[in-house]
Amino acid sequence: MQTTYAVGVDVGGTHLAAGLVERSGRAVRQTQTLTPTSGPFAIVDAVIDLIAEATSGTDPSRIAGVGIGLPALIDFRNQSIEFCANLPLAAIDVRSVVASRVHLDVTLDNDSNCAAIGESRYGAATGVRDFVMITLGTGVGGALLLNGALYRGSRGFAGEIGHMVVRLGGPQCSCGGLGHLESYLGRPAIAARGRDAARISRGGALRTRAGGDPDAVTAEHVVQAALAGDSVACGILLEAGEILGEALVGIVNLLNPRLVVIGGGIAGSADMLVARAADVVGAKALAGRRDVTVVQALLGNDAGVLGAAALALDEHDSREVPFGERAL
Ligand SMILES: [Zn+2]
Repeated sequence: MQTTYAVGVDVGGTHLAAGLVERSGRAVRQTQTLTPTSGPFAIVDAVIDLIAEATSGTDPSRIAGVGIGLPALIDFRNQSIEFCANLPLAAIDVRSVVASRVHLDVTLDNDSNCAAIGESRYGAATGVRDFVMITLGTGVGGALLLNGALYRGSRGFAGEIGHMVVRLGGPQCSCGGLGHLESYLGRPAIAARGRDAARISRGGALRTRAGGDPDAVTAEHVVQAALAGDSVACGILLEAGEILGEALVGIVNLLNPRLVVIGGGIAGSADMLVARAADVVGAKALAGRRDVTVVQALLGNDAGVLGAAALALDEHDSREVPFGERAL
């Protein structure tokens, strides 16, 4: 019997979201909660509760499975969590624990990979066989869709665009490395630039948004001030866009994608950052590659849930087709 639905789960550092999703990409039921801070088992229990809520009243035989996107390095073949910087999940066999409790097949993947699958299936990259996904949030994530398939690398860790060196000996990144893209574009980096600006006289708009305290300036304050036309905040985002653009020039020269999709919480409201990055790519990529299009993601906060559900559908369908008949 053709299954109708899959469950997508997006595990974030602050929120957990789940949805029961049709093959068409329509989420028929969505639910979310705050990410528990009382340890790994509380997080897994919360994920299981969300799945139960999303699937309540639905015939299990019509559900292809559960896809879970995590902000972690996932060993895709072994379905294990190799490293998870912001949540204490690496010691737990999340896949097995969840599968045994919800009685559905469960597939784990990196959250940026899920976002790329979502944008590929239902969003900004539908019909595009070669594209690069970048997610700008607390961290900077990435994913590569090459020749129509997600490129995972030898163990599933490919696409960590945020950890490319953009300046030798630059500021320390969350991973411990120096001068990585994330150390310029992650939320903490943009907030730090905002705090520095708020301490000088020209940074009055940022200071005001933070209640008069320069130390309280967040990345969201920078984005909101820029949207309101504050030149100092605009300068911070344009500089971030310039750095992103320079990194993209290298990626575009290396991979020759048709499209670059920029998503994540920061990109969704920072048009000028994305536009500046697109300008840099258009001006500096090697000849023959400059027709690449740089766009914002379309699915917004839904990309993770929809992409994880699409992943579960793909895994289900690949199990249904005899190996020799799979499209390679
Ligand atoms: Zn790094």
